[in-house]
Order: sequence, then C-alpha cells, then structure tokens
Amino acid sequence: MVVSLPLVFNAPRRGMPPRHLADLDSAERREVVKELGLPGFRADQLARQYYGRLEADAEKMTDLPAAVRDQVGSELFPVLLTPVKHLACDGGETRKTLWKANDGTLLESVLMRYPDRATLCISSQAGCGMACPFCATGQAGLQRNLSTAEIVDQVRAAAAALRDGEVAGGPGRLSNVVFMGMGEPLANYKRVVAAVRRITSPAPDGLGLSQRSVTVSTVGLAPAIRKLADEDLSVTLAVSLHTPDDELRDTLVPVNNRWSVAEVLKAARYYADKTGRRVSIEYAMIRDVNDQPWRADLLGKKLRKALGALVHVNLIPLNPTPGSEWDASPKPVEKEFVRRVLAQGVSCTVRDTRGQEIAAACGQLAAEN
Ligand code: SF4
Repeated sequence: MVVSLPLVFNAPRRGMPPRHLADLDSAERREVVKELGLPGFRADQLARQYYGRLEADAEKMTDLPAAVRDQVGSELFPVLLTPVKHLACDGGETRKTLWKANDGTLLESVLMRYPDRATLCISSQAGCGMACPFCATGQAGLQRNLSTAEIVDQVRAAAAALRDGEVAGGPGRLSNVVFMGMGEPLANYKRVVAAVRRITSPAPDGLGLSQRSVTVSTVGLAPAIRKLADEDLSVTLAVSLHTPDDELRDTLVPVNNRWSVAEVLKAARYYADKTGRRVSIEYAMIRDVNDQPWRADLLGKKLRKALGALVHVNLIPLNPTPGSEWDASPKPVEKEFVRRVLAQGVSCTVRDTRGQEIAAACGQLAAEN
C-alpha cells in the first residue's frame, strides 16, 4: 500500500522521529523519491547506499548529484541516533552503545562477538511498560515506541562497525539480531515486524540477514504471538516465561494477569506449528524466587506437554542491578535446575552471559544515565 507522506518538510512526527528511508517499504520509497522530483532509479540507489554500503550520510553518497544531497539528507536520512558512549568488555568483544535519539530519548544496543558469529541485541522501545520488578528497564516505565528506522539503524550501525574493524577481532560480519534490549517488541508490533522485514530482505530492500538468525522476544502477549505466526516469517520466537506457575508469574511478569502461562504456551505452540521453528523459553534464574527444584520439574512437564520437541529452555543467570534485592541463583542450584528440566525430556542450556561489567542487562546503562 502506498501511503501519502508529508514531503515538503520532513518534520518530526507526533512523539516520533522524522521519517527516514528505513521507515519505508519499497513502494513507499519509490513514491517519496518521485514526489521529491527525483528519477525513479534513485529509489533503489539510495536503498543500496543505506542497506548495501551501510551509509546513512547523504553527503557521502557520491553517486548522488551534489545538488540534491542536501534535500535527500533532510528528507530521507535525518540523523536518528547519535552515540553517547560505547562501553567494551570481554576483551573488547562485547560492546554496548548508549544512543541518544533526536528528541533526547536514550536507548541502547549490545554487540557480542563469538568465534562463529556476531550477535546484536537491539531495543524496540525506549523504556518498557511491562513493569517486570527484577528489570532495570521495567522500573523506569515506557517512554515511547521506537520507529522502524530507529530499530533498523541500530543494526546498520553495528554492521558498519563490524565491517570497519571497530570491534576487537578484526573486520567481520553481523550474523544475528535479537530483539532482547529495552522494550517489549510485540507491544510495538507494526514497527517491529516492518523492521524485521528490512533487516532480513535481500538488497536493495534490506540488510539481507537470514530470518532464522533473527530472534523476537516477548513476555507473552498471546494474541500478538499468533499474529506474528501468521506473518509468514521464520524468525525465532523467544518467550520470557521466568516461571511455570501463574501464582508467581502474576508478580514476576505482571502481564501474566492478562494472559496466563497456559494461554502463552498455547500461542507458542501455534507459532511453532505455523513456522516449524522451535520456540525458545527464556528463564532468568533468580535466587530463592523461581529456582526451586519443583519449579524445574513443573517447567519441564508443562513444556513437554505444550510444545513436545519444539522447545528449548535458555536459563539466564540474572544480572543483578545495583541496589536491587534480586540476585542470581548459585551455580549448584542452576545445575540442578538444568538436570531436572532435561530429565523431563526438554532441552535446556544456560546462556553465556556477556557484558556483566558494563551493565549489559537490558536497560541498565540507560537507567544509569
Ligand atoms: S524484562 Fe523485558 S518485558 Fe519485562 S520490564 Fe524488562 S524490558 Fe520490559
């Protein structure tokens, strides 16, 4: 569908940043280029600059006549994100960036380099309205949704940083993207799905990552999980369950009061059946809160019944926020938890935690600022 967009002056949209090329699908892009009075071929040329060469500055697009670079810059390439700081740890192979959007909103992304892949964790909202009590982002509440382009530009910037050798380990390629930074991705549904399409479409319409290398996480917005299943995408779905029983989940993940564990698992099954993809269950291990052996047994049983072999449990040692009453489970407790989930026939591993020294749990850096 071609939508009409304000063309003469690219003003900030109400509560949102100004329009950017990455907000537009290919039909919209062509329409805008036409209305700017440029020949049609410029639409794909600009997209190749942005998605292919990872260039976001119109002044550096040398295949564009110098006379139109200014106009193209202000209409299609406003600066959306400015780095406030980069923090590195794990020998430089983990790099967290705090970004400032053009209305002053802070958000963050984390790039993690492994021997076989480079994964970027991105934010989909500034802040988060889901109010999980153990999470730094949840404490500050939701500021606003990010635009599609603000989401995509985190990925473009990381891909460019890797290509240009700015991350320890020499020049490389971004291989994976996880929507596990600030925000509940499915609460910003339309923009997140559009961003997934830009991240995974082949050139010139997108950055060309494989859909299977993209993970969308959710605390369990069941209707949105079903909707995502019907999008004809094959991204991995990660459900932050954190406990298998409604009683505790009602407080740990307040949205559980709306959609219970059973409803979330039913929606996850629908997703697995529709996409053929194994669902990832995220479980933050919190000392003496959700790490009891009986909860491991119950988790294993419920998941086996609801999802059969189409599930994998990721245990995440909690990264405690300064001054918080929440703490990570001791290692022996974690080990026993894994053993019990496996004993139920459900695959289960402990996630490698990167970035402990740089406050890499979602929202911690922005919260400190
Ligand atoms: S854990 Fe995730 S969903 Fe919950 S408040 Fe934090 S960012 Fe939001």
